[in-house]
Amino acid sequence: MSRLYSWSRFTGRILAAAAGIEGPPTKLTFVVTKRCYSRCTYCDIWKVKDTPGGLDRELTLDEVKAIAAANPFLQWIDFTGGEPTDRPDFVQVIQAFAEVCPELLLIHFPTNGLATARLCEAVGQLRRTVRARLIVSVSIDGPPDLNDRLRGVRNDFAHAIDTFAAVRTEIGAENAYIGMTLHGHKASCGRTTTELVEDTFAAVNTALGQRKQSAITRATLHLNIPHLSPHFYGNPASQGADGFGGEAHRKEIAAALRVATVKSTTGSSVAMRAIERVYRAEAARYLATGRTRIVCSALLSTAYLSETGQVYPCTIWDKPLGNIRDTGYALMPIIEKSRRDGVRRAVAAGQCPNCWTPCEAYPSIMASPLRSALASLRRD
Ligand code: SF4
Ligand code: SF4
Repeated sequence: MSRLYSWSRFTGRILAAAAGIEGPPTKLTFVVTKRCYSRCTYCDIWKVKDTPGGLDRELTLDEVKAIAAANPFLQWIDFTGGEPTDRPDFVQVIQAFAEVCPELLLIHFPTNGLATARLCEAVGQLRRTVRARLIVSVSIDGPPDLNDRLRGVRNDFAHAIDTFAAVRTEIGAENAYIGMTLHGHKASCGRTTTELVEDTFAAVNTALGQRKQSAITRATLHLNIPHLSPHFYGNPASQGADGFGGEAHRKEIAAALRVATVKSTTGSSVAMRAIERVYRAEAARYLATGRTRIVCSALLSTAYLSETGQVYPCTIWDKPLGNIRDTGYALMPIIEKSRRDGVRRAVAAGQCPNCWTPCEAYPSIMASPLRSALASLRRD
């Protein structure tokens, strides 16, 4: 199937979703494992492997192959974790989907960047065997000292830089990103969030320069806002009742997003910069009001699958909809039932936890082109 045809189908399905037509989802967020050897202060996923039986019910590779075969309509898959590459058969998991999803266009996975050689091996294998575009984001949450404290691993920043540089060489600068979540305030030693973003950008480029690597542009540094999720991160209310650390920090994060938007004028395509601009503008609005102007596309064009086969609307809403092991590994019986039961209507009406997580925000922006265009033009 030609890539042009697949992109036109993708666009058509996104526009159909924008018109409220309910078909199979284009995007799946799939938690391939909850193994992880980071020890992040704001996420409890790394504790799962140390819990007796914590990893026992993870989907096997044969089950993953059955899932891929039963859902060939997927065009965009986020393979997340845990640390996805801590799953020994991670490459085969992706290949399983690539082999039977003829219109698969986008594959993304995040990484903590701890295992540079293993990451490069996996990315190299995927680049050689998978046609879909592969995008990798390496997590860095601050300049070296703060990052290492937040992520609970000595020299984490250095490992992440080594991994980012190696992955970028393998798949190209347009496909390699750094993901920074703006929750460094608790350990920030008096720096504002805006200053921390600047410190991080400078530290990344200094470290790359020391390795004789080219600098990143601001478009390579993706800024995310933090969230709570009992079923995904398992992060406790100790992160703050709302996960943001209170009103003052909400304002700080919003200010940092605005500054980043103003400074990010080069380094990616016009379309990507426009999407990023909407994401940041709506994130700032969400921080101020708890709402966005973009209707979430969960259960319309996206779905979430846990490592044990449980389907949820998204990474955030702790609302199990059914297990894919009970439907012959097909998503649609579960999604269609949830639509009949009014779960999709509840999402559209904002009767869910109502977040602005990037997993859903980017497809939601694409599925709301008019609202997004208006949102990107507004200055409030
Ligand atoms: S945020 Fe990611 S890297 Fe950190 S503990 Fe959670 S899953 Fe692991
Ligand atoms: S707005 Fe957030 S919580 Fe609600 S369905 Fe969408 S992603 Fe989930």
